[in-house]
Amino acid sequence: MNLLNVSKTFPNEASCKRKWTASRDHHGAICSHCGSNAHYWKSDKECYECKICKYGQSLKSNIIRLGSRLPFRYWFIAFHLLTSTKKSFSAKELQRQLGHKYYEPIWTLLHKLRDAEYRLEGVIEFDEGFFSTELQADEKNKPLKRGRGSQKKSKVLVMSESVPVQKNENKKECKKSSNKDKIRKVNHIKIFVINDLKSETINSKVQKHIDKQAEIDSDNSTSYTNLGSPVAQHRPKVIPNELIEKALLWVHIAISNAKRMLLDIFHDIKPEYLQNYLNGFCYKFNRKYFGEVQFERLLVISVAYKNQFRYHVL
Ligand SMILES: [Zn+2]
Repeated sequence: MNLLNVSKTFPNEASCKRKWTASRDHHGAICSHCGSNAHYWKSDKECYECKICKYGQSLKSNIIRLGSRLPFRYWFIAFHLLTSTKKSFSAKELQRQLGHKYYEPIWTLLHKLRDAEYRLEGVIEFDEGFFSTELQADEKNKPLKRGRGSQKKSKVLVMSESVPVQKNENKKECKKSSNKDKIRKVNHIKIFVINDLKSETINSKVQKHIDKQAEIDSDNSTSYTNLGSPVAQHRPKVIPNELIEKALLWVHIAISNAKRMLLDIFHDIKPEYLQNYLNGFCYKFNRKYFGEVQFERLLVISVAYKNQFRYHVL
């Protein structure tokens, strides 16, 4: 949505509130008291009342905490700015654009939206990678192990939504590239530093960051033995080393881009800062695909933050 459409569609507080309410109605309210999802809408109090325990929640409660005193229109302008520009927005800039007196609630709003947790959906390519990092202080006097187990390598998990290209896009994509394996495009990615490759460590990340209905493609590493349990399907494949970059194309593109970016900017990375740098990389990478769908996605994440059905709807 461009700026003109945003100002036409959401010209005032009432229009933003209507859209917000419609979106909350659609995704359903969950009672924070008893967990029921059956509610009445009480128009006199402008709140959802639980049919079971009568607990009431306002339009702004039980959602991502965006600075609940701010008008809905501020949230919508923030959705727009975050999803329509490649430029990174500072809280100071947003405060200036909104003409708001106080910095702190705007900072909270922006950070909550940036950190909004969404789960990856659809088909996910999944693999691990290794980043060269400095030795931890307590490792400096120990003998250096070689290869993947080296103390100079930090382990990461890489997950990327791999989406089939639509038919009409497909023709363009085929002309652009002779590589048939590229006929899937990437959507969102996530990268996490992990301390070990134990199955429990990996599964807990999957549970938190991948939708239950998703399907995972990976190699047949023993760390992935139970990967099928938190998701709908896991398709481990025996992939020879020389083919792994093609078979799991987007995770490998993500890893090599992240390494290039980190090497370009930093000479030595302390392992404790690696996750921060990777968050910055993923944030930028994922913004490439921001647009109208992302505006809606941000709205859904916000309205249905604590809703167990939250990420199944787009
Ligand atoms: Zn209740």
